[in-house]
Amino acid sequence: SDLGAYLRRYIRDIPDYPTKGVVFRDLTPLFKDATAFRSAIDGLSGRFRDLKIDAVVGVEARGFIVGAPVALALGTGFVPIRKPGKLPWRKRSTSYKLEYGVESMEIHEDAISSGQKVLLVDDLLATGGTARAAAKLIEEMGGTVLGMGFIVELVYLKGRDMLRDYRVESLVRIE
Ligand code: IMP
Repeated sequence: SDLGAYLRRYIRDIPDYPTKGVVFRDLTPLFKDATAFRSAIDGLSGRFRDLKIDAVVGVEARGFIVGAPVALALGTGFVPIRKPGKLPWRKRSTSYKLEYGVESMEIHEDAISSGQKVLLVDDLLATGGTARAAAKLIEEMGGTVLGMGFIVELVYLKGRDMLRDYRVESLVRIE
């Protein structure tokens, strides 16, 4: 799309980061640019305007940068999912497998209530492991994940295969 092609110019490719053979997609140029950032937030929230979303959930850390403005655009509140040990109150946790080792994430016990319709957002979809784990956490609390929105999708990592049960939207598809 035009928006996708426009936003692609603000994504910096960093070869061999964090390890050799991996190309890291750096979104800081996009976040820094007022027009690109606004276009990304407007574009992403626009994809879900038809749904009656109750809450937007974002995963630490770049999911916060994207999730909070999307929540404001859709007229909802924002719920953080964080790395272990960061949330101060009672919480639920889940562990999920990554390429190298195991990762955990936490959410406050009262952050999602039963029957709530949730939009999950993050900056980038890679293998889909993070989004799937976050969705499971939301569902364990009785929430329904109506959609998942990403600025960037790394198509070659086939994250959508892991997220077949969900409506997945992305603005920039990198093949
Ligand atoms: P996944 O779980 O493999 O889909 O990885 C997605 C998560 O890792 C998201 O929270 C991203 O912020 C982060 N991530 C993975 N690869 C990249 C990248 O190339 N650029 C920016 N973030 C990335």
